[in-house]
Amino acid sequence: MKIVDDTMPVISKERVFRLLGQKDKGVSGRLSKKVDKHIAGLEKMMRPKVLYTTKKIRKIEGNTVTLEGDVKLKSAKISKTFRKCDRITFFLATLGEQVDNVIRSSLKEKKLSDAYIYDAIGSAAVEATVEDFQNKMDSTVKKKNQRTTLRFSPGYCDWKIKEQQKVFTVLENDLIDVDLNESYLMAPRKSVSGVFGIGSRELVDKDETNPCRLCGMHTCVARRV
Ligand code: SF4
Repeated sequence: MKIVDDTMPVISKERVFRLLGQKDKGVSGRLSKKVDKHIAGLEKMMRPKVLYTTKKIRKIEGNTVTLEGDVKLKSAKISKTFRKCDRITFFLATLGEQVDNVIRSSLKEKKLSDAYIYDAIGSAAVEATVEDFQNKMDSTVKKKNQRTTLRFSPGYCDWKIKEQQKVFTVLENDLIDVDLNESYLMAPRKSVSGVFGIGSRELVDKDETNPCRLCGMHTCVARRV
């Protein structure tokens, strides 16, 4: 089990605008300045951390990936994407509870547009935290001529939200103070959990193993093409 807590995410304003339902070119100067101001404010509150561990794949049969320790992940899309991998990394990333507090305070003070902007910035920041982490892992495994796959989070694609419990069983979540409730939602809210596979560069092609290429769910918000 390892923790990464030495990197601040670079928050993409473009991603924040997208989460706010705005197209980059049509954004008013006023909103753009407000987003800059709120990014600067929220950055001071962020304590980004990523907890992770890597497990060997024992076998992949049908829709089930079986890992060392007899952990079983059930998803047809994950089984297919990870079929040429030999290991899986489990991760749990969070910005810490102060970010939730800022959003909650804005709501309490009925500053709804501020709350909405902070919420979008938090989502962009936690996603960037995970991306930075995976990029670092990619650089590490590249030295062994390996690469990582696309990542999956419980509740997205065909991976059921209740499998979140398995991610939390594998990771010792109290090491970074993230809790899971009965509905499998995380607290702090600006947290992301998931997995990605690791395997030989020759075998693991991110495009070729992308399940979205052949998927008919064209309205899926998690589509990656
Ligand atoms: S579009 Fe991609 S993420 Fe969405 S359900 Fe299909 S395979 Fe999964």
